Amino acid sequence: MRLSKNFWLNELIKSPTADRFGISNEPTTDHLLNLTVVTHQILQPVRDKFGVITVNSGYRSPTLNTKVGGSKTSQHCNGEAVDFEQLGTPNYEVAKWISDNLEFDQLILEFYNPKQGANSGWVHCSHKKDGSNRGKIMTAMRINKKTVYKKGFVLR
Ligand SMILES: [Zn+2]
Repeated sequence: MRLSKNFWLNELIKSPTADRFGISNEPTTDHLLNLTVVTHQILQPVRDKFGVITVNSGYRSPTLNTKVGGSKTSQHCNGEAVDFEQLGTPNYEVAKWISDNLEFDQLILEFYNPKQGANSGWVHCSHKKDGSNRGKIMTAMRINKKTVYKKGFVLR
């Protein structure tokens, strides 16, 4: 099933963890609609701007989300959030472009550390189809083996 010009549902529900543990990862009709919206509002514009992107995680059923250690309130479980990266562009540049050009609910620059290479980490971005998008920007980093979320883009 095609969701937009360059994206297929398959890319947004595939999960090696779900395959490995035999976990069902089929979205409900409502979640499928959310996936379609986030694809049109976020993924396709990023693809048009930067070229081919890799989706690391889209929809997660509650069982899968628990298995991968996702937050209990994860927007991945509603089909509203996607994790992705563009291999030729530093993740910070992609995230910055989204923040300047697209409507989003939450944008997180995850574990990007230029010292570990331009491709380190990934971008998490969510979009709510009801329009209640907060435009919230965060940076996730690991400090003393703990995940810490900071407000805005924080580079180090
Ligand atoms: Zn995510």
